[in-house]
Amino acid sequence: MEKVLAAVRVGPSKTEIREFPMPDIPEDSALLKMEVAGICGTDVKMYATPPSNAPVIMGHENIGVIAKAGRDFTRRKGVKEGDVVFVEHYVMCGKCEWCHTGQYRHCENTDWRHNPDAIRYGYTSAEKAPYLWGGFAEYVYLPWNAVLHHVPKGVTPELAGLVTPMANGVEWSLFDGGVGYNSAVLIQGPGQQGLSQTVICKAAGASLIIVTGRSSDAARLEVAKALGADYVIDVQKEDPLARITEITNGRGVDVVLDCTSGAGTMPILLGVDALKRKAGTMVIQGEMAEFPNFPVGKITVKFITVKSARGHSYKACELALEQLASQRFPLERITTHRFGLKDVDLAIKSVGGSGVADVIHASLMPWK
Ligand SMILES: [Zn+2]
Ligand SMILES: [Zn+2]
Repeated sequence: MEKVLAAVRVGPSKTEIREFPMPDIPEDSALLKMEVAGICGTDVKMYATPPSNAPVIMGHENIGVIAKAGRDFTRRKGVKEGDVVFVEHYVMCGKCEWCHTGQYRHCENTDWRHNPDAIRYGYTSAEKAPYLWGGFAEYVYLPWNAVLHHVPKGVTPELAGLVTPMANGVEWSLFDGGVGYNSAVLIQGPGQQGLSQTVICKAAGASLIIVTGRSSDAARLEVAKALGADYVIDVQKEDPLARITEITNGRGVDVVLDCTSGAGTMPILLGVDALKRKAGTMVIQGEMAEFPNFPVGKITVKFITVKSARGHSYKACELALEQLASQRFPLERITTHRFGLKDVDLAIKSVGGSGVADVIHASLMPWK
């Protein structure tokens, strides 16, 4: 029988290459031959601290070619063998209110935190048939309820690998933050996520983009400038609030986007202070369990709207793919590194800042 090779997370920071049987493809399903799996900060966290003991083929930002498609799959999805697609990691139920509005990320069918039977690429157990639920593998199984997007012509799979951070950029800055023409925006964190937000804010017409980072982010802050940041601030060398106040002539910014990781409560505290006097918006990623002395009084007095960054919608993915196709930004400055299947461990660690130096976005290419 034909086998499929996959990198399986078998424990905290531990990967094994395993063989899985090539799945049968019923008429309502398809098989994706992987081209590129993007690796992000979530992978870094989930790899070091897995949410369960189950073996998991990670890889949730997946671009590939339809290698085989059942007749019903082709009819329902509008994709055929040979098409290059981006597969969302959310696998929808197709029936609930969220699915009907294109907000698959809220669907119970893909909510691994609360539903033990949930399917989400990169998260679901490799013990669940037909096993191929992650992109760090030669092939991925696509059931009838997978959510696909065509990759536009002229967009290479490696560039398309940026679609997830770029879609988050659209969702968080435009849809959640309301960034648009003439907006003043503070983007905290110059990783692939912060840099993608920079691109989207610039394209949307923001008049001021400030990106913050640490001293170790010097190279990334340079890339931020190349992608449209007006100012960059090394928060370890300068007082960021004083600098933002100076840049904005005391006015503050309209929108704050938190794209940091492992920075604790600091980005939110800075964000509250850096926002304009009334009615600013802050999009946060609350990764810490507790927040002592949460500045709720200040948030109320400044009439701040706080929103939670939670992935991307169907529309955000489509707009992100259009952005990639536009070729308006030097995005090759973000897609810095490629790794093969046997180097999954190194690739994830490199994205996390240990391993290979100066990785911004890593493309996992299983056939490399
Ligand atoms: Zn991700
Ligand atoms: Zn649903």
